[in-house]
Amino acid sequence: MASRTAKDAGNKGKWLKIVLSSPPELVDALSNFVTELGAEGVYQEENKIQSSGDFPGAASKESVNAYLPFDVRLETRVSSLKSYLESLSQIFPELDAPELATEIITDPDWGEQWKKYFKPLRVSRGIVIKPTWERYTPQGRDTVIEIDPGMAFGTGQHASTRMCLEALETLILTHRFPEPLNVLDVGTGTGILGIACAKLGAERVLCVDIDPKATEIAMENIIINSVGDRVSVTQEEISTLKDTYNLIVANLTAKLLIKLKKTLTSLLRPGGYLIISGIIDQNQSDIEAHFFREPLKLLSSLSEKEWVCYVLKKETNQP
Ligand code: SAH
Repeated sequence: MASRTAKDAGNKGKWLKIVLSSPPELVDALSNFVTELGAEGVYQEENKIQSSGDFPGAASKESVNAYLPFDVRLETRVSSLKSYLESLSQIFPELDAPELATEIITDPDWGEQWKKYFKPLRVSRGIVIKPTWERYTPQGRDTVIEIDPGMAFGTGQHASTRMCLEALETLILTHRFPEPLNVLDVGTGTGILGIACAKLGAERVLCVDIDPKATEIAMENIIINSVGDRVSVTQEEISTLKDTYNLIVANLTAKLLIKLKKTLTSLLRPGGYLIISGIIDQNQSDIEAHFFREPLKLLSSLSEKEWVCYVLKKETNQP
């Protein structure tokens, strides 16, 4: 992470709030873009346009809210966002162009604002994600995962995370693993996927992230969920890992997945499973070209909105 300069210090606590009003079809792509750009506190809001009289309301718009720190990177970040908006309107000429509004915020309580959008959510048949500050009474044999996301990604509300949880649930609960289940969660964020694995029965889980803020938050969530005896966290590149795993889950981006493909495959034991997510459908063919080949083979895929998630298996006769 870049260190703060003296110039940044004067702007401590100052943020540029970004509000992108957009047709619903583009909000996930926009959230993804601003997150990758380095924005914090990214959340989506639905803005229903009021109907008048008996007439149905006009098509609803949604907004993506995000905060960029006032530092040396701000100008470049805002101009890349503007170019991205332009390219989106060229790619989707039939949709209204997203509108950008900005506001300077000093010492805001923005860190708290997104909390009102994070409610207990059933993400799969038996998994419920519950914010630590909300109440929820589990039903039947629900696996409840408590999350305080802070500034890390991973509340279960995003399709890419939700599909990983569904794939993990199916895989762990229906497959008989011949040996103790040793899981690697690559890009753990809040730790949500690693914690889910432990609660579903994995013997050992390693959560990895390159962002120190994420590993700190993941550790807190591991403790909150009382799975610290089986789940550990490390802040490093996966290329430095020594162990091998019979289940790896990586919710990243198509670009990162392709970059890490070789390492992911070599960390996977023969007969092991790899779940990859964070893939926008327009990158599907790129991912397929890299991942649908020996020693990996496709087991199943999930899709939601424009997001895709793949479950792959490493052939048993492979090193
Ligand atoms: N697993 C969570 C969070 C996914 S967000 C979920 O499914 O919701 C992706 C995370 O990957 C971010 O926390 C980011 O810091 C991390 N990341 C990005 N590049 C990485 C890399 N090369 N190795 C490990 N983690 C990485």
